[in-house]
Amino acid sequence: MEYVKGEPYFCKAKNKIKNFPYLNKDIKCEILIIGGGINGIILNNYLSENHDVVLVDKSRLGYNCTSSATALLEYQLDDFAEDLSNELTNEEIIKIYKMGLKSIKEICEFIKKNGNFCEFSLKSTLVFTDQILKVKKFKNEYKFREENGFEVKFIDEENNPFPFKIKAGIFCKNGGAEFNPYLFCKQMIETSYNQSKIFENTEIDSIYKEDDKIIAKTNFGNKITCKKIIISTGFNETLTPQKNLSEKFISYSIVTNPIDNFDWYDKCLIQDFKDPYHYLRLLPDNRIIFGGEDTKYNIKKPINEKLALKKYKALENQLKKMFPFLKDKIQIDYKFCGLFASTTNNLGVIGKSNEDPNILYFLSCGANGIINAIFGRHLIEDILNELPNDFEYIFSAKRLL
Ligand SMILES: Cc1cc2nc3c(=O)[nH]c(=O)nc-3n(C[C@H](O)[C@H](O)[C@H](O)COP(=O)(O)OP(=O)(O)OC[C@H]3O[C@@H](n4cnc5c(N)ncnc54)[C@H](O)[C@@H]3O)c2cc1C
Repeated sequence: MEYVKGEPYFCKAKNKIKNFPYLNKDIKCEILIIGGGINGIILNNYLSENHDVVLVDKSRLGYNCTSSATALLEYQLDDFAEDLSNELTNEEIIKIYKMGLKSIKEICEFIKKNGNFCEFSLKSTLVFTDQILKVKKFKNEYKFREENGFEVKFIDEENNPFPFKIKAGIFCKNGGAEFNPYLFCKQMIETSYNQSKIFENTEIDSIYKEDDKIIAKTNFGNKITCKKIIISTGFNETLTPQKNLSEKFISYSIVTNPIDNFDWYDKCLIQDFKDPYHYLRLLPDNRIIFGGEDTKYNIKKPINEKLALKKYKALENQLKKMFPFLKDKIQIDYKFCGLFASTTNNLGVIGKSNEDPNILYFLSCGANGIINAIFGRHLIEDILNELPNDFEYIFSAKRLL
């Protein structure tokens, strides 16, 4: 089944992740992580410091949905606090926002320690609407964040520093970050403690139990015997005991040519609040990456090429509408799309499976899935050490039953 189509921009990087062998014998370990996308790679880097961890991927590391992520790293969720009030208390939302900010700090610390080889940069963020009917919603969210100590500025028609129409916007100075997700994976792999225990082209076909051990069988018939399995296969649910953990969409992206002498206020990360929504940022070589226009995933025809072409065109038109003075300067150099998963509150599924406490999930959802993964590694570690964690139920598979 194909989950990504087109020519993802980020894995075109000159510095590739080195190749790892496929597994050709039976092995044992404490923890097996299945799936070497950004989630599995982040978790492997973290857990391999103190545990005996094996990481396997059925193809190449970092090439699946990870390389099609636009990689806007933000603390807020896809919905505003008032839209989440049926699912989360205000206290929980504040904790989640703070956890997002802390995760961005943790990426900064990683870069400080290991050098910046993944185009990482702290960024300001803007979420805006051009619809009068949504102004009240924006005012409420602004007030919610301001009253709870988040540094935010309200943007309206009077103080709008952007060249496009804004009825209401929330601007956060240095409230986000960006990086090249593929190169970040490369750095995480290179700083992992278990490089001799990483295997590519090694697909797990089945998982079964023998006494108190769990066994994962590969496509070549080899067995990996372990105490815990962490399923980090993105949105491929063939191995997850519980199906339909999330609702699936396809999200589309275009990347323009490098545009001379162009930027916008503070080169911030931008999201509109339209339906379908859009998000954009400036890449280091001054290309614009512009994504969104999500459509429902159809299992019979996962990626419909005709529809994808329509969506790339819709993105291009929308971009030109935002910056009409660039109309003749924009050329689209890359087009790609990938599977994108959502839960009702867009928090991922991180923790024990309902069927077996030794099989755990590490699945991200929503537009800030990467931040979920940075935070989620601590949650997994607490669960492995049987320590309480306030977020355990909020991210659990149990909540989806
Ligand atoms: C267009 C688009 C834009 C996005 N923009 C953003 C954004 O701006 N910010 C953000 O935070 N998030 C964004 N996301 C979401 C982000 O991409 C995901 O949260 C993230 O990539 C999930 O990573 P993953 O490791 O879980 O999945 P994947 O990258 O899909 O990795 C899963 C891996 O599991 C492997 N695998 C699957 N089955 C098996 C098996 N049986 N055995 C062994 N290996 C297996 C696959 O080969 C794959 O490498 C975006 C997504 C899309 C599609």
